[in-house]
Amino acid sequence: MGRVRVRAEPLELILYQSDAGTARGQASVVCFPESIDDLSFAIRAANRHRVSFVARGSGTGLAGGATPVANSLVIVMTRMNRILEVDPVGRVAWVEPGVLNLDLTRSVRHLGLHYAPDPSSQQACTIGGNVGTNAGGPHCLSAGVTSTHVLAADVVLGNGEIVRLGGLEPDAVGYDLRGCFVGSEGTMGIAASIAVRLTPDPPETRTLLADFTSVDAAAETVSGIIAEGIVPAALEMMDAPITRLVEEFVGAGYPLDAEAVLLIEVTGLIGGVDAEVDAIRRVALEHGARQVKVAITEQDRMLLWKGRKSAFGAIAKVAPDYYLHDIVVPRTRLVEVLKRVYEIAAEQDLLVMNVFHAGDGNLHPLFVFDGSEPGIWERVYAAGDGIVQACLDAGGVLSGEHGIGLEKRDYMSLAYSADDLDAQARLRDAFDPDGFANPEKILPAGSRCGEMKRAPEGTWI
Ligand SMILES: Cc1cc2nc3c(=O)[nH]c(=O)nc-3n(C[C@H](O)[C@H](O)[C@H](O)COP(=O)(O)OP(=O)(O)OC[C@H]3O[C@@H](n4cnc5c(N)ncnc54)[C@H](O)[C@@H]3O)c2cc1C
Repeated sequence: MGRVRVRAEPLELILYQSDAGTARGQASVVCFPESIDDLSFAIRAANRHRVSFVARGSGTGLAGGATPVANSLVIVMTRMNRILEVDPVGRVAWVEPGVLNLDLTRSVRHLGLHYAPDPSSQQACTIGGNVGTNAGGPHCLSAGVTSTHVLAADVVLGNGEIVRLGGLEPDAVGYDLRGCFVGSEGTMGIAASIAVRLTPDPPETRTLLADFTSVDAAAETVSGIIAEGIVPAALEMMDAPITRLVEEFVGAGYPLDAEAVLLIEVTGLIGGVDAEVDAIRRVALEHGARQVKVAITEQDRMLLWKGRKSAFGAIAKVAPDYYLHDIVVPRTRLVEVLKRVYEIAAEQDLLVMNVFHAGDGNLHPLFVFDGSEPGIWERVYAAGDGIVQACLDAGGVLSGEHGIGLEKRDYMSLAYSADDLDAQARLRDAFDPDGFANPEKILPAGSRCGEMKRAPEGTWI
C-alpha cells in the first residue's frame, strides 16, 4: 500500500483511538484499504509483525468495538464504499462495507426498494459496521435486525485468507457461518463485500403519535398493542425530559406536557393499515392515552420522525457529555425496569432521559452530564452497573444492538456460565486461531477453560 493509504502521525492516530463510546485505546498505525486485496495484504502484514488489527467503519459504535487495544493496526473501511451490483428482481445488492446505510436506501429508492435496518445513526454508519454489530433500528421491530437482511459476505479472516460465508440460495445446507459472523464485532475477520436483501417499499404508511400522562401507561400500551396481535413497523417511546428537549429543538409537534409519547408506524395495504390504526388508537385510549394523532401525509410523518431522529442532537443543548446504554428486557417487564432506571438515576444524582425501541423491549437510558465535574464518571458507571443488573434480574440481555465490545465485556460472566463462555471462545478461535482479529473484545479474559479467570480492570486503556 502507498503512503496515502497508511498513516501513523501521532496526532492523526488520536482520531482513531475510540469510537463514539467512552473507552479510549491506542492505534499503532491506521490504513485505508481500497480493495479486498489491499485488505488481505494489510492483514497479512499485521500477521507478519505479530500486530493485532481492528476493523473500523464510521466509528459511530457505542460499545468500544472499533477502539484499538494492544496497539492494534486500525483498518478503516470507508474507502471501500461502492455499490457493486443491484438485482431488483432478486432484491439483492452486493455492496462494499464502507457504503453508508442511508446511501444504500437512497441508491435503490427509484426501484421502489429500500434497505430495511435503519439505525438512528443511518446517515453516518456503514453497512460493514452494521454487520459487525448486528445493528437494529426503529423499523427492525417487524423487519428484523441486520442479520435477517444479510445473505452472504466475502470475509478476510485473521490470517488474510479470503472466504465466502453464506450464499444467495434460499436454503443453504450446513452450519450458518454467516449467522456467526454477523454481530461478531470484527473478531472473526473483516467483511470486504456483503450481499444484502432489499425490501419493497410498503404501499401505505401511517405514523401515529400517542401521548400519555404517565410513563407506566405508555409502557403498558406497548405490550397491549403487541398482545392485540399487531406488530407495527416501528414502536418507539420517549419520556418527558427528552420529548421536551426535542420539541424545543426541532418543533416536531410533540406535546410539552406529556410524561411520555409513543411514536408508532404501521405499513401495508390501505385497508389493513387503517384497521390497524383504529385498533392501536383503541388500545392506547384504553391504557390512558390523552390523544392519538395520525399523520398521513409524507410531510407530517417526516416531521414526527424528525423529532425522534434529532434526540441525540438535542441533548448537546443540555450538557457536553452523554452515556447511552443499550439493554433488552422482556416487553412485559418494561414498566418495572423503567421504574428501576429512574430510581438508579436518582440514587446517583444523575439526569436520565429515555428514548428507545420500546416494541422490542430495547431500552436506551441516556445519562446527560458534564464530564469535567469531579466524581461524575464514577456515578455514571455505577448507574450503568445498576441498570445492567436490573435488566438481567428481569430476564433481559446485555445488548439489543450496540454490541458488547469493551463496554459490556466484563458483564458477560454475569450473563453466561464458564462453559458458555468457553464454547463461544472456541467458536471464535475457529475463525481466528491466532487471535489477531480485534482482541480483548466481547469475551472477558479467562473465557477459555484453563485461562486466568478475570483481567485487572482497565487493562485495555
Ligand atoms: C447518535 C447515534 C445513534 C445510534 N443509533 C443506533 C441504532 O438505532 N441502532 C443501532 O444498532 N446502533 C445505533 N448506534 C450505534 C452505531 O451507529 C452502530 O453500532 C453502527 O452499526 C456502527 O457502524 P459504524 O460504521 O460506525 O461501525 P464502527 O463503530 O466503526 O464499528 C462497529 C463494530 O463493527 C466492526 N466492523 C466495522 N466494519 C466491519 C467490517 N467491514 N467487517 C467486520 N466488522 C466490522 C468494528 O470492528 C466494531 O466492532 C447509534 C450511534 C449513535 C452515535
